[in-house]
Amino acid sequence: MEFEPVIGLEVHAQLKTKSKIFSPESTEFGGSPNSHVSPICLGLPGVLPVLNKEVLEYAFKAAIALNCELHPRSRFARKNYFYPDLPKGYQISQFEEPFSTGGWVDIGTNGSTKRINLTRIHMEEDAGKLVHDNHGNSSFVDLNRAGVPLVEIVSEPEITSAEEAVEYMKKVRSILRYIGVCDGNMEEGSLRCDANVSVRPKGSDKLGTKAEIKNVNSFRYVQKAIEFEIKRQIMLVENGEEVVQETRLFDSNKGVTFSMRSKEEAHDYRYFPDPDLLPVVIEQEQIEELRLSLPELPDQKLARFKDEYGLPEYDSSVLTATIEIANYFESCLKKHNNPKTVSNWIMTEVLREIKDEDDIESFPITPDKLGELLNLIEGGTISGKMAKEVFEEMVSSGKAAEEIVQEKGMTQISDQSELENIVSQILNAHPDEIERYKAGDQKLMGFFVGQAMKETKGKANPKVVNEILRKALSD
Ligand code: ADP
Ligand code: MG
Repeated sequence: MEFEPVIGLEVHAQLKTKSKIFSPESTEFGGSPNSHVSPICLGLPGVLPVLNKEVLEYAFKAAIALNCELHPRSRFARKNYFYPDLPKGYQISQFEEPFSTGGWVDIGTNGSTKRINLTRIHMEEDAGKLVHDNHGNSSFVDLNRAGVPLVEIVSEPEITSAEEAVEYMKKVRSILRYIGVCDGNMEEGSLRCDANVSVRPKGSDKLGTKAEIKNVNSFRYVQKAIEFEIKRQIMLVENGEEVVQETRLFDSNKGVTFSMRSKEEAHDYRYFPDPDLLPVVIEQEQIEELRLSLPELPDQKLARFKDEYGLPEYDSSVLTATIEIANYFESCLKKHNNPKTVSNWIMTEVLREIKDEDDIESFPITPDKLGELLNLIEGGTISGKMAKEVFEEMVSSGKAAEEIVQEKGMTQISDQSELENIVSQILNAHPDEIERYKAGDQKLMGFFVGQAMKETKGKANPKVVNEILRKALSD
């Protein structure tokens, strides 16, 4: 029997507001433990939470960009459970009345587009962090993260492979980064997901029993955890056993998922509307303002890059993967207006140097400087090969292309008569090779070009040399 996996993701994205969702402390990552805390996020008696207006704006921006239906009135609810990283004994979340439902994300898989529908998005607060001592037997509590704003983005169970899950998550990350509401830093936990996985006989329209893998925080782990889980479940079913509904964790060292708690131990969260917080109400007018404030989104930009610059799908998708690269590309075009050349240089040379998307803003080769370098190739001053050398030097020294070319005396020889002289010297010195070439050994063209390069220490313009040689040898 053939099986089909079914996957639904719950993505948690930290909103990058300066202060927490209901209190004024910094949301900044790191900092010494428990330095970003106040009586409010510590849950001390007698304090009252107040919603950060910016959280509301960021959350609505996210929902607009993800095509969701917006609810101008929503409520916060208390999700009750006990855990040491949750000082109040409940998490403020949204339950029955989230601010947004529906929506969708289009992902590209194997050259076609697939639409993944969303169930809902809601706002909530993050919990603190437990730090386990690797040497002793102690665990520590750091509440700097408690109260950092989150949106939880819940997908419908429509994802059908680990690859699709990764594509989906990448797309959500890209959109949230474009609109500037989440930094998408998965290592620091700004974006993470719970992956719900089940399997069913291919063609069946009934969902199988799911297992939920908690807190997966890298694309690679999403891929690995889901792949493992699919295999594990198929094996169970094939052996006549049943998949039990449970919460599991991914062990990245072993590449396996293992049970954390079963459904019998599942929490009853005793949700109820938080009496300390007013219902959230937002005016239609403000929603419209937020809608208008959004930049061009990844899908629109990709379509425009194909259309306006005549770039292939692949180039367009690489260049629009982050707004920083897209902006770099378009700024560069202002200096050197050949989209495909600029695209090639960014996709190979520039992206090889840039490890983290944020680095492009401090990259020593500004878009202007790259444009200048490409102009030197186009004008015949240097060859493409020389340009790669100049590029390396630009990265390390931050100097302009022109300056490096002059310092190193790298200027290319394109002068027709100078090159004609050199070529004729070479031909005079190699009568046998000319004979063999004329008898059909076409490979010798490379030999002649090579000689010209050697003679000029690599400075001859290969295009011009080729033309001169072809003409001389056809006489
Ligand atoms: P829970 O209340 O247990 O968290 P929900 O029904 O709210 O479950 O769904 C949470 C996530 O699980 C959603 O992303 C949803 O698409 C996904 N999901 C629900 N049922 C299944 C299933 N049988 N297989 C895979 N994913 C599922
Ligand atoms: Mg869940």
